[in-house]
Amino acid sequence: MIISIASGKGGTGKTTVAVNLALSLHNVQFLDCDVEEPNAHLFLKPEIHSQNIATIPIPQVDEALCDYCGKCREICAYNAIAIFPGKENARGSVLVFPHLCHGCGGCSLFCPRSAISEIPREIGIIEQGYSGDIEFIHGKLNIGEIMSPPLIRQVKAYTNPEKTVIIDSPPGTSCPVIGSVRGSDFCILVTEPTPFGLYDMTLAVEVLEKLRIPFGVVINRSTIGNRSIDEYCRIKNIPILMHIPFEREIASLYSQGIPFVREKNEYRKKFHDIVRLSEIQQMVYRK
Ligand code: SF4
Ligand code: SF4
Repeated sequence: MIISIASGKGGTGKTTVAVNLALSLHNVQFLDCDVEEPNAHLFLKPEIHSQNIATIPIPQVDEALCDYCGKCREICAYNAIAIFPGKENARGSVLVFPHLCHGCGGCSLFCPRSAISEIPREIGIIEQGYSGDIEFIHGKLNIGEIMSPPLIRQVKAYTNPEKTVIIDSPPGTSCPVIGSVRGSDFCILVTEPTPFGLYDMTLAVEVLEKLRIPFGVVINRSTIGNRSIDEYCRIKNIPILMHIPFEREIASLYSQGIPFVREKNEYRKKFHDIVRLSEIQQMVYRK
């Protein structure tokens, strides 16, 4: 079973929920797909056993073979190639913009003169290890790098279907989030009871409905703010999986990098119940 943890906005406690859920279950694989700012390792403190460089293939043009037909530029949806045909007898040139290239391979596939080969460009690293019996994998995007979806795909390629896979997805509702949650059996949306929390959550709900992924909501810091999330969920018939109150002890543990289930054992059962509820939700969704 694959459970992704998402949130319409940052700072709602998404990673807190992901980490505490992982620690409450058995036979877990944890994938931190928040590759621009991975921080689950600060709480799970895994022992890293392997590091792999993550790359994407980018085009390299052999201008001796190229006739500047422009096919590669037409095919590229990301404007990562520019063609400057030569005037009169002068040679033209082809410019590749590596940081715009998504490594889709389309240009080399469609080049009629086989003038394009591919070379790897490093975008980050993937580290793998263990935190107790939790298998831990995270991707770290290089500083200044914008190409997070390919790295997220590479982290997700480690998915082990024999385990309960927990995916900590990036915040928001853009491409990296969609890439992270796509293929999940269930998604936990973490939010907070504020006007911003509600607004961003409604966007996330739309995304999950479009992707047809069953989901439920965890309201973090539920004892501050207002009841607008509860009301929204009631009207939309969205299950509220858990309320996590705003408590000094939880905040204090967080600030020390200690997942709260380590000290507050009663929450382990609550997280367990979320998984059982998510299984029921999946069945209902498939009917
Ligand atoms: S498609 Fe091939 S031949 Fe045409 S401009 Fe691009 S690299 Fe050159
Ligand atoms: S690999 Fe894809 S994204 Fe990169 S330049 Fe070629 S067509 Fe564009």
